[in-house]
Amino acid sequence: MTAGSITRAGMSGMNKNQKINLIRILLAALLLIVFSFLPLTGTLRFCLYMIPYLIVGYDVLKKAVHGIVHRQPFDECLLMSVATVGAIAAALAKSGDYTEAVAVMLFYQTGELFQSYAVGKSRKNITELMDISPEYANIYDENGGIVKVDPDDVECGSLIVVRAGEKIPIDGIIKKGSSSLDTSALTGESLPRDVNPGDEVISGCINTGGVLEIETTREYSDSTVSRVMELIEDASSRKSKSENFIAKFSRVYTPVVVYAAIALALLPPLFLTALKIPFLWSTWIYRALIFLVISCPCALVVSIPLSFFAGIGYAGKKGVLVKGSNFLEAMSEVKTVVFDKTGTLTKGVFEVVSVHPNDISADELIHIAAHAERYSNHPIALSLKKAFGNEADGCNVEDAEEIAGQGIKAVIEGRTVYAGNEKMMSEAVKGGVIPECKSCHGHTGTIIHIAIDGVYAGHVLISDVIKPHSAEAVQALKKAGVKETVMLTGDRQSTAREVAAALKIDRVYSGLLPGDKVSKIEELINEKQREEDRVAFVGDGINDAPVLSRADVGIAMGALGSDAAIEAADIVLMDDDPLKINTAIAISKKTLAIVRQNICFAIGVKVICLILGALGFANMWTAVFADVGVMVLAVLNAMRCML
Ligand code: ADP
Ligand code: MG
Repeated sequence: MTAGSITRAGMSGMNKNQKINLIRILLAALLLIVFSFLPLTGTLRFCLYMIPYLIVGYDVLKKAVHGIVHRQPFDECLLMSVATVGAIAAALAKSGDYTEAVAVMLFYQTGELFQSYAVGKSRKNITELMDISPEYANIYDENGGIVKVDPDDVECGSLIVVRAGEKIPIDGIIKKGSSSLDTSALTGESLPRDVNPGDEVISGCINTGGVLEIETTREYSDSTVSRVMELIEDASSRKSKSENFIAKFSRVYTPVVVYAAIALALLPPLFLTALKIPFLWSTWIYRALIFLVISCPCALVVSIPLSFFAGIGYAGKKGVLVKGSNFLEAMSEVKTVVFDKTGTLTKGVFEVVSVHPNDISADELIHIAAHAERYSNHPIALSLKKAFGNEADGCNVEDAEEIAGQGIKAVIEGRTVYAGNEKMMSEAVKGGVIPECKSCHGHTGTIIHIAIDGVYAGHVLISDVIKPHSAEAVQALKKAGVKETVMLTGDRQSTAREVAAALKIDRVYSGLLPGDKVSKIEELINEKQREEDRVAFVGDGINDAPVLSRADVGIAMGALGSDAAIEAADIVLMDDDPLKINTAIAISKKTLAIVRQNICFAIGVKVICLILGALGFANMWTAVFADVGVMVLAVLNAMRCML
């Protein structure tokens, strides 16, 4: 399914099939009531009662036959068919009361209808919660007027107009106009974001202020909105352990129940015959049929995937994109949370603290550094470019090469420039030694060294700030049952230690290249005490995509727009807020609690009813409650995951 189809699915309250089924159920019920008042007997009675039975049950019978023909007979349709046909046969032989058989089919179908309505309804609720798909885009026509077109038809690089109250349909850059954006549909964050010409904006936000003219930087199908909707749509295809368990369970369970029912119909009579105790065959066959109705596993088969679906939808509303039920489930088992530093725990917006040039002017050093970073999106690069300010001064930058976790190499006006950390300088400076800087000593902050044509040219000290919620988030993780927090960074030790101390993070590893981060994560995964414990890595996707994919659960921060992170991560936090990790854990725990409740409730009620049925204390009506009633309650409970 594509992004569009999820929004269109479940548009009306009930779809056509559901309406037809409702009519079938009402018609059959009406006939059943009318017939019960008529003095019918014999063959006529049988024929008339078969009308409501077939109206409401023909598709179930058809599916059961289909299953037998294709040698996959053991499903709920077979259980229902055998039970009702059996009940009819018993009635034919004895009382002539077919009401029970028709009623069982009627209730079963009512349950099915309710379930498909509930699933459709929650799907619709979730898509409404996540209602970020734009209906149209405004573009200029030849005469300079504005026309509405399908966002799919807008080419990359076109100018679009977004008026107050309209949704931004496609990702782009503001060319004209200032406004504030409501990003809540994407991020769950209610504070508006102010935007001005030159700012990048993403689709799905609502323009709450003035008119904006935006140059699109992507096509609609690559825009944030489409990707987010696709993610949510695909999420249900990655099954959790609980869902896999239920699928396997029902594959084994149904045949077991069928054989148990056969045994119940045959063994006690044989036993009683051997003991020469009088008995009625029909008693035991009737008990076996009740057994079949009770044991139908649909409460579990339906409610458990629905719980995960609702949980994922709710998380989406809160700005946490979960790529599959398995990841939602894993979040509640996370015992170690590993953080990247820059851009994850810190804002990744650096201020230049001081410039220490070596045989060159301070301005020239910043100038060179900013140019070297021209093609990089690393937070350090963005900050240096901002500090220099005059990016487009005509200088020629070629062969820019980013060395992950170290820095940048580029040729500027014919001179080879390296800008990066100490590790990089050992290669960039002839002899490999760089002078010790007294004034930087004791300062925390990141040092960017610069070398020009093999000669050390000085360094820039820049510093970052910790995000406002980082400390709170780390504390809250501990309360949520996380045993250990770890920080991995490519930055130098003193800065790393200072940040870790401020946030009360348990362990820190510094000076790591992206590859080292992967090995550290592997070490941490090997260290875990129990098989089911999970190690989560939280990063910003810049330089750490491999780590995101290696961790048990990869969580990308502030990933709006970062393709690598959205690809590699299992969970995406739509805004930069580390507290959202706790939101994800809380939703995960709630969903799993509901799943467990449903498993215990459904299996518990069924086991009790099965015992009662085998002993002869339950009739068909008890059986119908144990099946349909339990399913309805389990589905209602599952829908609580959305609240
Ligand atoms: P972190 O682990 O904190 O997220 P990175 O792995 O992205 O950091 O980078 C580690 C170190 O490498 C930085 O602290 C910086 O010294 C250096 N570095 C990385 N990219 C750049 C760049 N574009 N320009 C200058 N230095 C860089
Ligand atoms: Mg980083």
